[in-house]
Order: sequence, then structure tokens, then C-alpha cells
Amino acid sequence: MYFHIIMSIDCNSECRYCYKKSYEDFGNDLNRIFKFDFSMPPMIKYKIEELKAFVEKSKSRQTLTFYGGEPLMDIEKIKEIMASIDARYMMQTNGLLLDKLPNEYVNRFEAILVSIDGNKNLTDFNRGKGTYDRVLANIHLIRKNGFNGELIARMVVDEVSEKTGLTENVKHLFSIGFDAVHWQLDAGFYQQDFKNRNFAAFAESYNAEVSGLLGYWIETMKKEGRVLRIYPFLGIFESLYYGKKEKLRCGSGYANYTIATNGKISVCPIMHDATEFQVGDIWQSSPDKLKEIHVSEPCKSCGILDLCGGRCLYANKANLWPKQGQEIICNTVRHLISAVQSGLPEIKALITSKKISEKQFEYEKYTGPEIIP
Ligand code: SF4
Ligand code: SF4
Repeated sequence: MYFHIIMSIDCNSECRYCYKKSYEDFGNDLNRIFKFDFSMPPMIKYKIEELKAFVEKSKSRQTLTFYGGEPLMDIEKIKEIMASIDARYMMQTNGLLLDKLPNEYVNRFEAILVSIDGNKNLTDFNRGKGTYDRVLANIHLIRKNGFNGELIARMVVDEVSEKTGLTENVKHLFSIGFDAVHWQLDAGFYQQDFKNRNFAAFAESYNAEVSGLLGYWIETMKKEGRVLRIYPFLGIFESLYYGKKEKLRCGSGYANYTIATNGKISVCPIMHDATEFQVGDIWQSSPDKLKEIHVSEPCKSCGILDLCGGRCLYANKANLWPKQGQEIICNTVRHLISAVQSGLPEIKALITSKKISEKQFEYEKYTGPEIIP
């Protein structure tokens, strides 16, 4: 099982699409849709031996991913957890404080997911001046100090990033040292933003970028024998190539849960404080026997549910965008899947001719990168 551990609900960044949009979305219908627990402590309130006892109720080794807010706001607790619990470790961070965590801890992470959107102008515009240089310095520092796990860039894609273009931003992130890239569309997460955007025009240009990036992905296989670790392509390729049926790709609600700062267990980090999505707590529950929660309509009866998986449990349950906006999001999913499908014969030929191998497409599910953006 995979668990996000919310280390802190505070963050040391004020990003445009998270901090700013949350304020702009004040007064949305979420309070009517979900019942929130407003007493959530800002930092972990339970004892680490209680978390350890919970994790050890399972015979299998658990994967713990530090999450926030910004998880490195509580470095001492990260050290305490890693010192006392035998688990696989990952972290999702904005990267600004990575230099503050001692090497012996950093080097134990199997993957570190760092929020960065592309080039310096874009990243600093979205995340604050100076962010790009600090993040870059920190990822180079941890590499120099021996971190050899997977370094994954987590991009947010919207109209602003489209000015540079998805392909250019993805290429840039590989060029500065990331092993892998994935992105999430900023779409369907805030109630007020759809009416203020020309999302249909954005989606058209984004879909064209996805096709262009797929072309670049295949070109790199042909020319260099390399399979770039572009997570949405890896995941969809695997499902199409092996004919696999997929559930929600992030695993939320059945393979991936979140432990809130008060010890309650929820289905997803974004819903950690929504009481109807809390399925237990670290004292009473066992990692292997957690209640499952799955996507509702319109995903349940969607013709491509087995490939899409439902995109996002939170967006599905919150249902914040009008039908027209949701339909445009779903069209981006259809486009992404059909783009990968169109490249399948060429990729299969490259595998058959041994230019590349099936092994190069392998990735681990539920570690954080959303396959369906
Ligand atoms: S394409 Fe849209 S409706 Fe279909 S499963 Fe995905 S998110 Fe749900
Ligand atoms: S994709 Fe949605 S449900 Fe899954 S972890 Fe992200 S926010 Fe949660």
C-alpha cells in the first residue's frame, strides 16, 4: 500500500494556481459538497510510534510519501519517521528546502517529485521570483551528494505555460537534470476559474502540443534508443500495449491513501480534511483492510473508463466545473489516449527491431505522477 503522509498543511510558497486560486475561489460550493474538519492541526499531532505501529500491522513493506503543504516545513519529523520506520520513502516537495535535509536521509528516497513548471521565466512567474534558481541549485546539490533515486519534475499546465509550449518545457526539464516528467492540467479544481478562461481555446492548443511531444518522444527512441520518462505516455502506452484495464491511475481510494496531521486516513491528500472521504485512522485501521472509494458518474459509465481510470477522484466527487467544461477536459483525455494509440505501431516496430526494449517503459504505479493529466 502507498500512503501520503501530510507533514504540514502550511507551505513556504505562494504559487499562482494553488495559493492565489484558493483565495479567488473563496465562497465556492465545496462547503456544501464536502463536510470539512476545520480542526486539522497544522503539523503532525500523533506520535511517530503510533504511525510505526500502524505501518507494522501489515506484513508487506509500505511506501510512505511525504507530502504537504510543504513536507520540508517539518524536517525534524521527517528525520524521526525515517529513523524509526522501515518503509520505502518518497517525497513530493517544492524543492526550496531540499538543501536543509541531511544527505543520509535524502539518499534514502527512491523518488523525489519536485514542483517546477518548465523554464525559469515560467517557473518564477507561477511560483515566485528566485524559485527556479533555488530549485535547480538544490537538485544539483542532492545529486552531487549521492542521491540516485528518480528525480521527477511535477509540472502544472495551463494557459500561461502554453505560451512556451508543453514540448519546450518538457525538453527543458530533461535538459536540466530531471529523470522524468509529468504534468497535471489545472482544470476542474476550482469552481470560479472556468468562466474566466477560454479553456476550449487552451485545450485545442494543448492537444496539438501533446501530439508534438509524442512525436518528439518517438523520435528520441528512433535516434537515440532512449525512452524518455514522460509519465502520461509511459502509463498509457503500457495499458494499450499489454491490453490492461485500469482503475484510477493515482490509486487514490484503493491503493493509495493519505494520513492527515491528526492521524485520520483519507483517500487523497487534497481531501484529507473532508470527513466523508476519511476511511479510518492509524489507531483503529490496518493498512491492508481499508475501505475503498471509487469514482462516480460520469466516469462510471464512460466508454474509456478502463483506460482513463477516472482522471481524479477529487475532481470527480467535487464536480466543480459545468458539464461543458468537464467535456473539454475529457476530450483532452481522449486526445492523449488516441495520440499514444497512433504511435503504437511505430513503437512496437522499434521494440521488435530491438532499438528499444519493453523494460525501458517500466514505471511504478501510485508513486505520485498522475498518468492522466
Ligand atoms: S474521460 Fe472523463 S468521464 Fe471518462 S473516465 Fe476520464 S474523466 Fe471520467
Ligand atoms: S489525481 Fe486527484 S484523486 Fe488522485 S491524488 Fe491527485 S488530486 Fe487526489
